[in-house]
Amino acid sequence: MTTLDFYLNDVWKKTLDGVYSSRQISESMFNDYLLSTRLTSLDDEYAYILCPTYIHFTIVDQYREVVEFYLEQVLGKHLLLKIQQQSLLDAQKETVTPVPSFANRFIRTDFSDQYSFTNFVVGRSNAQAQVASLAVAVNPGLVYNPLFIYGNSGLGKTHLLLAIGNKIREVFPAKKIAYISGPDFVEGVYHSIKEKKIEEFKLSFQELDVLLIDDIQFIAGKEKTHEVFFSVFNDLVNNRKQICLTADRTPSQIKGLEDRIISRFNQGLNVNIEAPEYETCVKILETKISNNIQNPNISEDVISYIATNFNKDVRQLEGALTRLLFYAINFAPEKEIITLDVAVAAFQDTNLKDSSKEITIERIKRAVGDYYGLTVNQLNSKTRTKNIAMARHIAMYLCRKMLDAPYKDIGVSFGNRDHSTVINACDKVEKNMKGSAVYQQVLRDLESRI
Ligand code: ADP
Ligand code: MG
Repeated sequence: MTTLDFYLNDVWKKTLDGVYSSRQISESMFNDYLLSTRLTSLDDEYAYILCPTYIHFTIVDQYREVVEFYLEQVLGKHLLLKIQQQSLLDAQKETVTPVPSFANRFIRTDFSDQYSFTNFVVGRSNAQAQVASLAVAVNPGLVYNPLFIYGNSGLGKTHLLLAIGNKIREVFPAKKIAYISGPDFVEGVYHSIKEKKIEEFKLSFQELDVLLIDDIQFIAGKEKTHEVFFSVFNDLVNNRKQICLTADRTPSQIKGLEDRIISRFNQGLNVNIEAPEYETCVKILETKISNNIQNPNISEDVISYIATNFNKDVRQLEGALTRLLFYAINFAPEKEIITLDVAVAAFQDTNLKDSSKEITIERIKRAVGDYYGLTVNQLNSKTRTKNIAMARHIAMYLCRKMLDAPYKDIGVSFGNRDHSTVINACDKVEKNMKGSAVYQQVLRDLESRI
């Protein structure tokens, strides 16, 4: 799944959570119809929703207004729904659309244009990374190659990476630019071996002028992936084609990365992004507020309150702002200015002190759900769809490992399941971990997020 997909899933999940909590649709309708829809893209006017069949289409259409309302709460702007049916699209595809080339399943040239340098707020915590990224964007292949941006999750690495891509697209429209995430690279190698298309996969990188690779840490521990990556990397850099990478730590700190790759990464420039300090948090909030089309009026002490309590990363800051606006619009609409008492009420369920430290089953579910673009409801549900079941197993395993919670309690909290189901899930995860370094990495990543 690409970062854009994660973003769209996250937006859609929050929207559906809102629709669900509004109680305007029955639980069974919600579970049976709305949960099987997806947000596939956004533009200035429309949000494109994909649903499986005509029946889903009619039901979603019926709830169009409430969905649009909650989508607006999440995005901060009003978009109309364009609902598409998978069954119709499939039929059209068979007749007109050519099948995309093998590698295009993994490499994206149509990455989002909403991340730019203009909407990236610069402060002490990210200034080095921003300056280096801009330098690369206006001199691709000529200054720092590769550019390696590292830092914890939610601090703006993907934003900068795509800002580089978008700037290059603007300044050098003829250059071919592509984006791929670490997990997609691993998948690409895996499938190209399986389908005997490894040369085709490698060749598709050779045509590029700029390659953006997000979360490269995911290739760690994969021998065949290393080999392919090393060859792709050398071909591009030796031909003065630009490579930019992100990771959650420095090259040398990525366990299971081959030395020859670490040394290639160190040949370019490594820059760090740190957690935003107070002033940067305030600046980011002010920018997001002034760009918000609802044009909210928020008092200074509220901004300071959010910057002090939700400053772990930028994603958390954004989430807090969304929650505040959602609360203010729905529950304090008479107020012309959002004051501290509104903010305190908006966040009263989030136990601020504990929320940054205490790990709970709910917290684990939310983190795993966010990671896979699923709702907590989906994790609790009886759905056995492969990806939902896998995420559910992982969440159960983490509850056991991180909380040492009794199997019985875990089962109850996941939709009243039997303790033996939880034991099976934990066994399955342990077995998968033994067989796959990527899987281990995913679990480590999740634990650090929780
Ligand atoms: P990462 O890739 O490091 O996990 P992202 O790039 O996905 O983080 O950033 C998380 C969210 O925070 C995105 O919505 C991004 O636009 C926003 N963001 C991060 N840093 C900044 C910044 N300096 N200015 C404005 N928005 C930012
Ligand atoms: Mg990212």
